[in-house]
Amino acid sequence: MKPTVLIVGAGVIGCSLAYELTLRGAAVTIIDAAELSSGASSATFAWVNANEKPPAEYQQLNVLGLRAHERARRSRALGDADWFHQTGNLQVAATDAEMRALEKKVGRLTSNDYEATMLTRAEIEEFEPSIDSTGLKGGALYPKEGWIDTIAMCTGLLKKACESGAVFLPYQRVTELKPTGQVTVTSADGSTRHYAADVTILAAGNGNRPVLATLGVDFPTHPSSDDGAAGTGNPTVGLIATTGPVDTGIRHVIHAPGISIRPARNGGVTFTDSPTGARWKPDDPRIWTVPGLLLDRARTLYPALRNASTETVALGTRVLPNDGVTISDWITEKTSIYAIATHSGVSLAAHLAEAVSDEVITGERHESLRPFGLARFPS
Ligand SMILES: Cc1cc2nc3c(=O)[nH]c(=O)nc-3n(C[C@H](O)[C@H](O)[C@H](O)COP(=O)(O)OP(=O)(O)OC[C@H]3O[C@@H](n4cnc5c(N)ncnc54)[C@H](O)[C@@H]3O)c2cc1C
Repeated sequence: MKPTVLIVGAGVIGCSLAYELTLRGAAVTIIDAAELSSGASSATFAWVNANEKPPAEYQQLNVLGLRAHERARRSRALGDADWFHQTGNLQVAATDAEMRALEKKVGRLTSNDYEATMLTRAEIEEFEPSIDSTGLKGGALYPKEGWIDTIAMCTGLLKKACESGAVFLPYQRVTELKPTGQVTVTSADGSTRHYAADVTILAAGNGNRPVLATLGVDFPTHPSSDDGAAGTGNPTVGLIATTGPVDTGIRHVIHAPGISIRPARNGGVTFTDSPTGARWKPDDPRIWTVPGLLLDRARTLYPALRNASTETVALGTRVLPNDGVTISDWITEKTSIYAIATHSGVSLAAHLAEAVSDEVITGERHESLRPFGLARFPS
């Protein structure tokens, strides 16, 4: 008998799981406190990569993530899975010291069979003709990387899952979790309901911690309300800005000192600070000076942005396990409650969903997930 599965959270992880589990014959119900892709998955740079993510097992997990996205892109079953834009990632260097650092990185990655190649300034101009290369020394190309349209991904996967019998219930917030996996949810009108299944999977991002607290479990992720001193940085908050539609000619995901830029789903560009997004307290008013500063940096690379303005700015709260590395494990010994929490969830979602679905169906630990259990945290 295939299990009934309740998934809490319809971000990139929950929607990928709903798809993979229905594919394996499970009866899936997926619930979210809001709409699909409304948590970290809605405010992400969405760069798909395994571009130096220590330790080695986490690097390998990201390689598997990238490969799984490639497979999904080619999959006949997914047909119109066009959310992975495998554009390649171009990292540019402005100084000799940056070029030397890039050369070392490319050496390390290629020695581990990760595709990466150094580019001269002339080659950058060839690969990315609309970039203003004045002041650039050269760069590196990572051809297998790209970016994901997370809304298209969540919508596409959930649609496929629902066509195979899954049920999606939006605007249902889990307020209590019982040891059996039964959840109490509160709807937008204040009414409450209970849902139960053979297996409950928590894929609620930063919502996992408060939900598990109702069970008395201290889930080892940073609380999303964690606040550092003003301006010195909250480790979890990053800023993602998008211009209105503008023809920049951008072809790749671009990483330059102080700025990362990629094409956006609205025909503009999405940008964040490099390497991984700003680190601010969300209520620090100075945060709103950052998008202007970043847009100026982007304009030095793409002159076509001169007349563009920022259309949206999102403050994304990273889902951060206490040691920075993915958690994917059973919460209870009796395999009824499972939890996933991860940064780089966009890169990892396609693989994690396959591996966790296999675990749920077979009851066996998936080889690639063994290093990502809860036992590594002190109890
Ligand atoms: C600024 C920033 C930049 C990033 N850049 C990248 C990048 O370039 N590449 C990359 O791979 N990753 C990146 N990430 C990380 C990636 O976006 C996340 O790891 C990923 O989106 C997490 O997905 P998720 O499905 O686990 O969680 P979420 O997307 O947060 O989804 C969780 C869902 O659960 C729901 N929920 C929460 N609580 C409850 C509850 N009590 N009841 C019911 N539902 C609930 C929420 O409404 C939400 O829809 C970035 C993240 C941020 C913030």
